[in-house]
Amino acid sequence: MIEQYEPTLRSECLCGSGKRFKDCCKNSYLKGPFNSNELFQRKEYRAALKIVRAHITWYRLCHRAHTVPLLKSKMIAGNRLLETDILALSELLDLLFFCYKKCGIINDYLSALDYFSNAIQGDRWKEEFDYHRAVVLYVYRNDIRSVLKILNVYKWQDISSANLLSLYLDVKSTSTNAVDKIMIAEKIANISAYPEVQLQYQASVGVQYCLLNDFEKGVLLLNNAIRKYITIPSNDQTTHGRQHLANAYMSLGVFTSDGDKIKESLKIFLQETSNNDYSEAGKAKTWLSVGDCYLYLGDMYNAKDAYSKSFTHENSDLTKVFLARALVSTGDCDVARATLDRVRTKEFSLANHFDFALSRCSLAIKTGVKTDIDLAISLLKEVKTNEPYFKDIQHNLIVNISEIGKGAKCARNMGLLNNLNKVFILQPNIFGLGININAAIDCFLQRKNKAIDKGMHTLD
Ligand SMILES: [Zn+2]
Repeated sequence: MIEQYEPTLRSECLCGSGKRFKDCCKNSYLKGPFNSNELFQRKEYRAALKIVRAHITWYRLCHRAHTVPLLKSKMIAGNRLLETDILALSELLDLLFFCYKKCGIINDYLSALDYFSNAIQGDRWKEEFDYHRAVVLYVYRNDIRSVLKILNVYKWQDISSANLLSLYLDVKSTSTNAVDKIMIAEKIANISAYPEVQLQYQASVGVQYCLLNDFEKGVLLLNNAIRKYITIPSNDQTTHGRQHLANAYMSLGVFTSDGDKIKESLKIFLQETSNNDYSEAGKAKTWLSVGDCYLYLGDMYNAKDAYSKSFTHENSDLTKVFLARALVSTGDCDVARATLDRVRTKEFSLANHFDFALSRCSLAIKTGVKTDIDLAISLLKEVKTNEPYFKDIQHNLIVNISEIGKGAKCARNMGLLNNLNKVFILQPNIFGLGININAAIDCFLQRKNKAIDKGMHTLD
């Protein structure tokens, strides 16, 4: 009986609403079913919020009633249940966050979170709780100083939350050396409970080795990551996972110059374009990737078509960057230049700045016009990258494009242009969490192995 663990009627509710227990979850938490996922998918966000709050209250009481006594009795089952509770409550906080966002009350979320600092005793929960706090500050407030304050308490070697480690890697990516990045990503892949996260980080490690010019090891790791994910039953794969799978094939194709792998990637992305589980931003991103595959394969007609489809879902500056390359390749240089002139780079990540510089380079190589060349070189020089692979590209391009300015041969320029269309795909900051709330929501809703669905506690 979990009722005996309830807070008093006048105390604040366990769900973080800030209301008194008797005015909030008291009459709803024992009722079930907790169908907030379905309500959320049906866009009934207020109703979903109410249910997820009741679910949280119920879960916290189950934790008090079942897990805490087991832990006190030092039974092994207690630790297992504790780990499930931490994952489950963390997932419930994700869902709570999504509901606040969709209900347009995101500013209330941080104060709601305060009610969870001691929801579970111990350091493991503290890490998970710090992750949830930091991610909101990072993504919504862009308050890096507060995020660092949270993260700087930790040494990454001591962190055992895959979520917190992913955030750590993202926030501190510029101040973390390549060796540590690899070790952190390996750790995340080892401890994460989710196959798509394992794939993402295993593949990142593979790419990182390639960027350090150790192609043998990198390619092996990429192949292993792919093989592991494709053995999962397709029902258990998520859109997020298939995106990472397609990206892994793409990286493999680029590093081994194997067009068949790019075709494999294209096949997955194309399948995903007819999947309605994506948000508009997700659809735009998928069409962008389809375009990138075609660009690599030299199919400029289909590349342009895919980029225009991406625009119908979201008018993104990054899509313009890549569309311009397809336009250059088909000889529409004036349109390409006008497209690039319209790109606003203010919000771009370091990786996107590199992409932008490369597009300016492709225009300069094709036209040989002095203003294009000067602009391309100055943008290239501004690009910051630590990866040997990209440094080589950066250096070679600066040399080659300067020579074009001095009247180098056209035939060689065409080779350069073709090669350029084959480097675009690799994002310099491959470990980026790429925290995209829409993608996170898509992924969460489809996850088959949710901790909250494991039913370790039953409605009683
Ligand atoms: Zn409540």
